[in-house]
Amino acid sequence: MKLRRWQRAETVTETIAEANADHVSLTQMRTALNALPIGVVIYDAGGQEWWLNRAAHVVVDQQRGHAELTREMSSLSSKALHGRTSTVLVNVDRPLGQTLEIRSVSLINGGALLMIEDVTERIITDRVRTDFVANISHELKTPVGALALLAETIAGEADELDSDVQRLARHIVEESHRVARIIDDLLELAKIEFDGIATQEDVSVQAVLADAVGRVNAVAVASKIFISSTEVDADVVCQGDARQLVSAVTNLCENAVKYSNAGAEVHIGVAFESGFVTISVIDYGIGIESEHLDRVFERFYRVDQARSRQTGGTGLGLAIVRHVAANHGGEVNVVSTPGEGSTFSLRLPMKIR
Ligand code: ADP
Repeated sequence: MKLRRWQRAETVTETIAEANADHVSLTQMRTALNALPIGVVIYDAGGQEWWLNRAAHVVVDQQRGHAELTREMSSLSSKALHGRTSTVLVNVDRPLGQTLEIRSVSLINGGALLMIEDVTERIITDRVRTDFVANISHELKTPVGALALLAETIAGEADELDSDVQRLARHIVEESHRVARIIDDLLELAKIEFDGIATQEDVSVQAVLADAVGRVNAVAVASKIFISSTEVDADVVCQGDARQLVSAVTNLCENAVKYSNAGAEVHIGVAFESGFVTISVIDYGIGIESEHLDRVFERFYRVDQARSRQTGGTGLGLAIVRHVAANHGGEVNVVSTPGEGSTFSLRLPMKIR
């Protein structure tokens, strides 16, 4: 039996919860889990494999002796027994080149559960889409740059031209710069999606914050916005790609400044909790209505199209932040009150020394 993608992995835990709630017998629950196209492996509180559904048996039989799969399953289950859940991708070559996604869940009774899903098709489709976007963006970069230069030349000869031509030429320059920014962000997003984490280096959180604030400061000063930041010890370290992490925090700071009124304050807070560091970018700006909160991380989603345009936004900043967080095994969240401000929190695993 080949694992298929149509069933989301959460369904497994929902099935168990519903079965418990309705006092369904163990046999019925096993039958239900055996019908799932996702592999399910249940571990007891001592870390021993307790039960596998049919789809999991197929994977385990097919991949018998696959060192990486065995290692990942054992590492995920033992972490889940200690309450740390995570997701990994493992490439296997039998029967054909496949990518398996393994997700772990801690069970309330002290055991752990792994869900194994074949995500090969999803990954291929994502790659084709990302490749297409990267190629087309790359092709557009040169002609758009040329258009901006030509329009700048026309605007530069303004004395000899009438004011309408000058106005329109300046307009073309502004719009070309806008398209160039969108192309840059599309390329950045494609790179982050495609490459995952290009490097696995030790990245100091202090250095990331200093770099990001440095990049945004000129715009903040122009709007008389003061950016303050919690002090962080230099030895607070995450592992990953420094360039991506700086890009994520810079995007959050840029937004905090863009969507605040002149003279406001922006604060960057840092907190620690069970192996994670949370970088919170807090503003007292326009805020976001609750119905938009789930969607702001989508590509090109803007709450206020006009304001985003006016402030030079591309609609891709938060999509970049979300991908960087995912690449580093973290997440990004937002809480916001319209008219009072927003807090975007980037939560990242810290390197355990
Ligand atoms: P943009 O380039 O338009 O800012 P983003 O992806 O960075 O695109 O953000 C998506 C949308 O989320 C923005 O257009 C804006 O409506 C909203 N948004 C993001 N950050 C904030 C913030 N700090 N305060 C209020 N609205 C925000």
